[in-house]
Amino acid sequence: MSLRTKLSMLRDQVFLREILDALILTFRHTRVKEVTLQYPHQKPQLPSTHRGALGLLKYENGQERCVGCDLCEAACPSHCIKVVSGEVQRDGVVVRVATAFDIDMTKCVFCGFCVEACPVNALGMTKLYEYSTANKRTLIFNKAKLYEVGERYYSDAKAYLVAHHQEDAGEKAQTYQYRFPSYLSQAAAPQSPLPKEAPDPDAKQVTA
Ligand code: SF4
Ligand code: SF4
Repeated sequence: MSLRTKLSMLRDQVFLREILDALILTFRHTRVKEVTLQYPHQKPQLPSTHRGALGLLKYENGQERCVGCDLCEAACPSHCIKVVSGEVQRDGVVVRVATAFDIDMTKCVFCGFCVEACPVNALGMTKLYEYSTANKRTLIFNKAKLYEVGERYYSDAKAYLVAHHQEDAGEKAQTYQYRFPSYLSQAAAPQSPLPKEAPDPDAKQVTA
């Protein structure tokens, strides 16, 4: 060990250099802005791109956007979406709808692929993240619950779609409404009458 190194070590020992360094560091941190949030009394400000619970959306006139095309189900890497589609007559026009729609939120990895895959922007991700429960069966969101989430957190879902360039802020979502080509609706209408849309019996309040 060289003489210079020895002197340096001696100086550090005499002046308690390491303790001094630690004190200086602690003092510096007293002047740094706090980053810790006292959750749940303080909530974080989440960006519009935040991927929280999924919700199903309706058009401005209250009509369901989903056309039961199954593209979200096909895009989901976790296989946690199940869509059952059907056809109903609405104002004399045959329209395709999802008669059942379930998402198992325990399997969802919040990748957002289902939202991107949807051709009518019927799915949106919200900022809802507080839905932990002791009963994981309640985390299978059925159609009614997904529409409840979509209605309660519509502004979040809309902001998510705008942030991901899937919808414009001022644009009416009706622009994306899906209709069968007229030759198909004319061909289907005279045949066996299709069921009218009925209110969903599963409708219940979101408890999250
Ligand atoms: S966010 Fe991803 S994992 Fe979750 S339902 Fe959509 S596609 Fe599936
Ligand atoms: S949410 Fe979109 S992609 Fe999924 S079934 Fe409905 S219309 Fe199709």
